[in-house]
Amino acid sequence: MKRFSLLSLCVVGGSALVLLFGFVAPNTFTFSNVPKLLSSIFFVDSTTTVALKESYRSGERIRVLIVPGHDNESWGTEFLGIREADMTLALGEELYAFLKADSHFDPVITREKNGYTDEFQNYFDKDTGRVRGFVANKKRVMQDLLKQGLAEKEEGVVHNTAVSSVAYRLYSINTWANENDIDLVIHIHINDYPGRRWNQTGRYDGFTVYVPDGQYSNAKPSRVIGEAIASTLSTVLATSNLPTEAGQGGVVPDQELIALGSYNTLDPASVLIEYGYIYEPQFRTTASREVIVHEFAFQTYLGLNQFFGNFLETFRTYKTSLLPYQFKHTLTQGSPAGRDILSLQEALSLQGVYPPDGEDLHSCPKSGHFGPCTRRGVREFQELFGLPSTGYVDAGTQAKLSELYSR
Ligand SMILES: [Zn+2]
Repeated sequence: MKRFSLLSLCVVGGSALVLLFGFVAPNTFTFSNVPKLLSSIFFVDSTTTVALKESYRSGERIRVLIVPGHDNESWGTEFLGIREADMTLALGEELYAFLKADSHFDPVITREKNGYTDEFQNYFDKDTGRVRGFVANKKRVMQDLLKQGLAEKEEGVVHNTAVSSVAYRLYSINTWANENDIDLVIHIHINDYPGRRWNQTGRYDGFTVYVPDGQYSNAKPSRVIGEAIASTLSTVLATSNLPTEAGQGGVVPDQELIALGSYNTLDPASVLIEYGYIYEPQFRTTASREVIVHEFAFQTYLGLNQFFGNFLETFRTYKTSLLPYQFKHTLTQGSPAGRDILSLQEALSLQGVYPPDGEDLHSCPKSGHFGPCTRRGVREFQELFGLPSTGYVDAGTQAKLSELYSR
């Protein structure tokens, strides 16, 4: 979608105030209304929900920039040898594939296995002064507005402060997106929190979709897109119970994340998704990790479709990539983690018996592991259909599951 950006106009070279003087007719000009005007121009909507949906409906391809969080030099968090940057890349590539196969979208991804794509590496390397100057200008205007009480400082979640080379790349991704007709930026992360012992699982679990602070120019559609993705993602993952993220339906506004356009540096809509915590059980084996990462990408794709009003009902029976599935194996406690058990948990979930009675996705996640939660779910399923209550997937239960969920 083509976007006209007052914002970039406003701060191109030199002082925003000097430029503003040019916009104000001499007879209406007073010194006292300058700051007010400045804030209304600084925070003018750079993108809207209506315009995005209109583009989609008119058949214009929606340009989505996928940013797998971190990179090969600075890989984010880590648990038992699994690096965040590798997981975010896998998820980003899955999401890219879903969007690429859909003629409504035109996805771009910032990096691949060996590092940033040439497009982005070249962009980072050239003209670094321009990006730094752009950000410095934005910062100055925003800090002036804060000082004058025309912008509000929001206290949010404390994030690890990006070191300067990382911050530079993130701001560069923002300016690249501004200059390349991107409609939506999706940053992909896996969560963690400070103070966890490196080799131990932590206390929190679930996802959070961060969206830009409500004052920012790209805030409104970002919020609606974030809510759509949270609603689809919540079918497969709990919402984060970290105290600063909890109780907001999985969607948390943030003023300071560069990825979302801190200092109002980003024109297109943007969301930053933390797809659960790195130590969660579904990530622990390669088999379950690959399947769940594919499913998270699918739910993100589904969320975008939901935002644009396309529910995929015409060509998909299930709103999950885990079904349909042919159940062919005996599954019980100790069975290898992976696709079989994730599809089982999904089928039980659609049947209303997973998480089992009295549990939720925090206590009984869709983990791909057969433990006490799954045993209880299977038992409830068997009782529902008058099957012998064995608590494991025996031949009769396989047949029933396949009858219901293999097509
Ligand atoms: Zn991260």
